[in-house]
Amino acid sequence: MNTTNQHDKKLRIGVIGTGAIGVDHIRRCTHTLSGAEIVAVSDVNIDNAKKAVTPHNPNAKAYESGHDVINAENVDAVMVTSWGPTHAEYVLSAIKAGKFVFCEKPLATTIEDCDKIIQAEQAHGSRLVQVGFMRPYDKDYRALRKMIADGAIGTPLMVHAAHRNQNVGENYVTSMAIFDTLIHELDVLRWLLDDDYISAQVIFPRQTSHTHAKLRDPQIVLLETKSGVRIDVEVFVNCQYGYDIQCSVVGEKGIVSLPDPAAVALRSDAKLSTPILTDWKERFIDAYDIEIQEFIDGCKTGKIKGPSSWNGYVAAVAAEACVKAQETQAKEAISIPERPAMYK
Ligand code: NAP
Repeated sequence: MNTTNQHDKKLRIGVIGTGAIGVDHIRRCTHTLSGAEIVAVSDVNIDNAKKAVTPHNPNAKAYESGHDVINAENVDAVMVTSWGPTHAEYVLSAIKAGKFVFCEKPLATTIEDCDKIIQAEQAHGSRLVQVGFMRPYDKDYRALRKMIADGAIGTPLMVHAAHRNQNVGENYVTSMAIFDTLIHELDVLRWLLDDDYISAQVIFPRQTSHTHAKLRDPQIVLLETKSGVRIDVEVFVNCQYGYDIQCSVVGEKGIVSLPDPAAVALRSDAKLSTPILTDWKERFIDAYDIEIQEFIDGCKTGKIKGPSSWNGYVAAVAAEACVKAQETQAKEAISIPERPAMYK
């Protein structure tokens, strides 16, 4: 996008994939955020794409192919919100077209594809890709990070975390606990600690009766960082009671913990209770807004700042080790290469 005199113009975005999060981002770009409009969409089912965008912008064009969205002349920037295995193809196509692209996690489903994206972006010469890791935009994770950095708990020693979903569908299988779910912790915990992972191990406790034959649930993922911090993350995607994200960092002289989302307390029937969220879209709603606004503003100034392809790549390397650890039940090494200059 030509950045001169573009600040007052709306960023014209094309969205590829109009499922749950695609529709939510179309809504937020149109009604909540400023400086952008959705002008093009595509989905494997073009009728769904049309239906998704029409209430927000009846003039937006629906295309059969995501590549047509990317190459449309009136599209300044692209949002990839399709099924994970399709991300790499669209991100590479957007880089080729020289367009900024926001890609929902995961950046790609293999390390090789993440690597191709990093190579293509470096060949382009400047950052074009922002990956949809929104937790670093959450005010509570930010407060946690600042407290750790300010020395409030002394040197961090351990992290206890949990990622619980109420339930998942029959097509959610064991490895998705890593690629779809833990991937958020893999990104946010290394950012929180300013550290990198060196090993992963996965333990399968007694299985819940609410799972199915192709899903081991719950799982406990044990990670070790370069500085020796030990992390345990419980991934429990059929926990029944709600969508619940927990994180406590134990240091030499104290503990910092993520608070539960603010909720009205009810005193009634001799009980004091607060509701627990069930919809993931609500849990980090403010973080999604800040994340996408930052993408829009970055595109307009020609410089994007959010989680990069490198974050997507490192998360994929760690995720692949975790999946291997699921299979071997052994401790697997995580080896992260030197960070290229563009991502420092
Ligand atoms: P979803 O509801 O299944 O939506 C995906 C959409 O993409 C569906 O409409 C699907 O069509 C379509 N699609 C599949 N292949 C496509 C292709 N080749 N070209 C264009 N569209 C295609 O899934 P979702 O929950 O929105 O998730 C989408 C992505 O966002 C995933 O990568 C997911 O991990 C990520 N996500 C991120 C967060 C977050 O917290 N950051 C939260 C949720 C989701 P069909 O249904 O017909 O296959």
